[in-house]
Amino acid sequence: MDGDSGLENIAAPPAPVNPAIYFDGTSSRRHVVTLAFNDQLAINADDHTLVTWSYADIRRADGPTGMLRLACLTAPALARLEIRDAAVVVELTARCSKLDTNLPGQRGVAAIVGWSLAAAISILGVVLFGVPLAADRLAPLVPPALERRLGDVAEGQVKIIFGNNICTAAPGRAAFNKLVDEIREAAGMDTSIQTAVLSTAIPNAFALPGGKVYLFNGLLAKAENADEIAGVLAHELGHLKHRDNTRNLIYNGGTSFLIGLLFGDVTGSGALIFASRSLVTASYTREAEQNADTFAIDVMHRLGRSPKPMGELLFRVTGKEADKPLSILSNHPLTEDRLKRMSDEDRPPTGPPLLTAEEWMSLKAICSDGKGAITL
Ligand SMILES: [Zn+2]
Repeated sequence: MDGDSGLENIAAPPAPVNPAIYFDGTSSRRHVVTLAFNDQLAINADDHTLVTWSYADIRRADGPTGMLRLACLTAPALARLEIRDAAVVVELTARCSKLDTNLPGQRGVAAIVGWSLAAAISILGVVLFGVPLAADRLAPLVPPALERRLGDVAEGQVKIIFGNNICTAAPGRAAFNKLVDEIREAAGMDTSIQTAVLSTAIPNAFALPGGKVYLFNGLLAKAENADEIAGVLAHELGHLKHRDNTRNLIYNGGTSFLIGLLFGDVTGSGALIFASRSLVTASYTREAEQNADTFAIDVMHRLGRSPKPMGELLFRVTGKEADKPLSILSNHPLTEDRLKRMSDEDRPPTGPPLLTAEEWMSLKAICSDGKGAITL
């Protein structure tokens, strides 16, 4: 055995145990080195240590497959250590806990990937948990100018969904304005509120952010007196006052805007349109409906009129239209509780009729002036 060893030693100079190639980063010289795994990595050549690298400072650098190429944070930027021996690679990578963190050159990419992932996760979190909360918190904070802007966008959708005909018969328009003014003043709301009767057979009414209230001729056609319509308008003003529509818009818009972000529609342009559509077609919460009813009942009492006719109108409409989409039922679910509540609040009138009989007939005919309607 001894002889064999001697022969080997004679046949070749002692080969480095773990040959690696080292570039010191200041010259182009290629050092054949051996590595010693001490407290720090010792890079040795010609029986002396060229340099030591702290394991925590060692980073992976770009290199060809089959080779581990390393850099060191405390070494010159171009200093490299190249290792092909698989066993050495395994042993060294086990010691370098931060081999793949904050890589020079890959740092930006890693950060972007990390942040994108974090953003995606938080967006999903916001969609699932945060948006309803945010909508409640944000709705009261939306500035009026923005609310009007949102209302304008939503109005464009109203135009698409329900047609774009505002009824303009002059006597009807005068009666409608009188009725709205009486309700608005009793509700303590300013004159910025815009209202219109739309020529569509759908029995509905709704409010948009920024103070637009629409009454559909289909609901007017089913109404038997001004108090019925007044109650519905007061209910819609209640939604405005409580900013329920803005809250819905933030909720629907927020959700789709954030989803748009996830899928690259950063402008969220489609999102706002989607949100506006849901604003017109989706329902308020039961709580919002109850609050709007409370508001309407209060307004009618202040006018010296009964809220009961409003309940009767809604019951009449929902009774016949319950199966149809886009009926007032779809966004104003009428439960028997609501009708009962309005009936319970029934009181003998103490105020004058909101419209004269003649004005009421004019309002009923607001969409039948023979000249059609103007475009929104
Ligand atoms: Zn409502």
